[in-house]
Amino acid sequence: MSAVRYDKKGSRGCPFSKNEEIKINIDDIGVNGEGIGHTDGYAFFVNGAVMGDYIRAKVLKANKNYGYAKLLEIISPSPYRTEPVCKNADKCGGCTLQHLTYEKQLEYKENKVKNCLVRIGGIGKEYLDSIMQPIIGMENPYNYRNKAQFPVGQGKNGEILIGFFAGRTHSIIDTSFCCIQSEVSNHIVGILRNWIKRSRNKPYNETTGEGDIRHIIIRNGYVTGEIMVCLVVTHKDIKGINLLIKELVKLPGMTSICLNINDEKTNRIMGPEVVTVYGRDYIEGKIGDILFRISPLSFYQVNPIQTERLYKTALDYASLTGSETVWDMYCGIGTISLFLAGRAKAVLGVEIVPQAIEDAKKNGEINNISNAVFLCGAAEEIAEKVCSDKEYSYIANPDVIVVDPPRKGCDKKLLDTILNVSPERVVYVSCDPATLARDVKILRDGGYELVKARACDMFGMSGHVETVVCLSQRKPDDRVTAKMEKHFFTELV
Ligand code: SAH
Repeated sequence: MSAVRYDKKGSRGCPFSKNEEIKINIDDIGVNGEGIGHTDGYAFFVNGAVMGDYIRAKVLKANKNYGYAKLLEIISPSPYRTEPVCKNADKCGGCTLQHLTYEKQLEYKENKVKNCLVRIGGIGKEYLDSIMQPIIGMENPYNYRNKAQFPVGQGKNGEILIGFFAGRTHSIIDTSFCCIQSEVSNHIVGILRNWIKRSRNKPYNETTGEGDIRHIIIRNGYVTGEIMVCLVVTHKDIKGINLLIKELVKLPGMTSICLNINDEKTNRIMGPEVVTVYGRDYIEGKIGDILFRISPLSFYQVNPIQTERLYKTALDYASLTGSETVWDMYCGIGTISLFLAGRAKAVLGVEIVPQAIEDAKKNGEINNISNAVFLCGAAEEIAEKVCSDKEYSYIANPDVIVVDPPRKGCDKKLLDTILNVSPERVVYVSCDPATLARDVKILRDGGYELVKARACDMFGMSGHVETVVCLSQRKPDDRVTAKMEKHFFTELV
């Protein structure tokens, strides 16, 4: 391994140079599933290397404290290495952990949550170890998704490409098989591929903005078996649509076929308009005892088996007795709200997508749940309004607040309102441990303590992980202690 090099001024410069060969132990996994090896405090990111591998690699780029290297040889393979089920695993931007045994994937995800809560959230490691429950893993980490999303594009010679985006790019790898999708989704993609070829519709060209068909979205309802096929297209006059319908309705469970119109040159997959060309404009899925109506534009968790376990954990952490008022912020189609409603006095669900709120209201009706109200708008705005507007006084003093924000975490304004309304407990469901930990710190500084935490694997083979935590108001004594600790710490600094 190279000796430390110094620059002209005599300060420590980059210890490696481009094209240099190194031998290194891989001891960690990066956010995109790449292997990370450390040497003398210097980190190398190596695609295709797995935690536990000892490898030979060539330096591609060397910055002052970290660099990138190309895997040349696995000198001794990691005991956690496994043969990927999918032949595209190396190229795919989705399943970045397929080379790792599932047990190791779970360990990695649990540690990722723990590290964030310790480093960013400021939680003591020993304390966290004492309260954190083991990660909820899947029995079968394949074929678990109830929603498939395949981009459609053109190859160099105008040929149709349907598949997935290669990691961090927008070039499409052509395939009809994805090991985390349901078998029926893979089958339907095959039908659509043939139909597009015969129908004279053109695949979309991202560079020119020309073409007819941009994306294929397939959803299937867990327990109900209902299927929705939604084609994202640039206009409504799609050729041969009746032929496609004729093919698709042969499949048991085909409930809804629709077109989503997106004529803008944008990375966003779906546009705002949906035209139903066959059947209903929604399908139904079931989680626990509750039936959910799912529209093409609404967010719905992609792993139904794990979702039920996640929601049960959230329900457990909420510790409801039947007399509580509960807020469910970022409620989507009301899934968590309706799950909690049976054990609460009243529930308020808040969500920014109008169609999702319509679904949430309908879901309340079809399940005969009358103690849940839904409001459409930004959580940070609605929370403030509910507190100040007399019209909402019946719901203005929540005992428990549940939040389930997108990856960027909660808006700071919402966290301020939560601290002002001061519920007994906050249950935080998160799909990003780093923003979760950032918000946990804000809530801890505001008088709450993390009392329960559990990771849940909703996305096997990918690097993503879901987490539920419960924060509880510190007792007056605790608060005095915390303030003293803070004061003491400030004095020291
Ligand atoms: N709890 C739901 C949805 C969670 S996903 C479930 O488990 O299914 C996060 C949701 O937050 C999405 O439905 C998204 O549309 C919504 N959202 C994003 N920003 C928001 C905001 N500022 N205010 C309210 N909802 C928002």
